[in-house]
Amino acid sequence: MKRIILIFICIILISSCSVTGSSDYVQKSDYLLGTFISLKIYDSGPEYDEIIDDCFSIISEYEQIFSFTDTDNLIHLIKSFLSVLNASAFNYPVPVSDKLFDIVSESLYYCDRTNGAFDIGLGRLISIWDNSFASSIPPETDEISDYIGFKGYKNIVIDADKKTIMYTDERVAIHLGACAKGYVEDRIAEYLKEKGVKSAVLDFGGSITVLGDKKGSPFNIGITDPYNENAIIGTIGVVDSCVVTSGDYRRFFVYDDVRYHHIIDSDTAYPSMSDINGVSVICESAFKGDCLSTAAFVLGSEAAASLLDDEGYGYVIITDGSVKISGVVLE
Ligand code: AMP
Ligand code: MG
Repeated sequence: MKRIILIFICIILISSCSVTGSSDYVQKSDYLLGTFISLKIYDSGPEYDEIIDDCFSIISEYEQIFSFTDTDNLIHLIKSFLSVLNASAFNYPVPVSDKLFDIVSESLYYCDRTNGAFDIGLGRLISIWDNSFASSIPPETDEISDYIGFKGYKNIVIDADKKTIMYTDERVAIHLGACAKGYVEDRIAEYLKEKGVKSAVLDFGGSITVLGDKKGSPFNIGITDPYNENAIIGTIGVVDSCVVTSGDYRRFFVYDDVRYHHIIDSDTAYPSMSDINGVSVICESAFKGDCLSTAAFVLGSEAAASLLDDEGYGYVIITDGSVKISGVVLE
């Protein structure tokens, strides 16, 4: 209980933190989309205070649509659009908004591309594991046995003309936890560019987009050490790029000396046992990086490197005993 109160106080403190600035940048942070989001604009001008506030309003609107559970705004419960879809789409085509249709159809491409290593249709299984995170006790075998080998995305039918989504298997629920952050980050990057922002860093808890450069030099982005979350293994210099990371250190619990992390392999219905502990994808879209970094984690270092090579993206793949790097220099 004490922990919940402490987290609540931290969230209030961070949520109420407004725009801060130095002569170098304007910054705002908030807890949204299940993570801490920080936006820093390095261009100077009084208009950027308002622009950064607008960004957080846009992010809140997306949260209202993409959240797996209902959004609790502390005053009353509001149903997220995704939770309404999940409650009604079995064998029934449900009309959805353009925004929800767009993220689902774009995600399905990557589900297919990665053979379900990234699978937005695993919401019910993910929800079972989420309960385990709350109790720190893994699920009973019979709770998850129906999901072993289950490819959720293969049972999602979309109609691009009617903008409807339907599930053909009762086990399907869409969960956007592995891609919504990146998707919204891309929308914010577009908005900032439209507003004329030339230099900025968008940090969506492990997914980073940099716009432009930092006074003529690349932005240096730290790559977290999966074996010591407070340390980095080095930095990479990037300009106009996204660096999106998935890792087993980001969210986990330990039960009977076994560590259970949050990235699920649908072949086993258990947290992925691949050799990867952390993988960062460097590409032009945070959404693509988000889909692919989750998939890469599940696929394991060899298949992940081959997938990312095929896509033409840079990466840092960390396994116990090796670091595979492509397309960037780790300093
Ligand atoms: P990420 O940190 O982007 O790799 O996303 C991990 C989050 O996505 C988890 O906390 C789950 O909510 C969800 N997730 C877990 N495993 C998968 C998977 N194989 N495919 C899609 N989403 C997943
Ligand atoms: Mg992801």
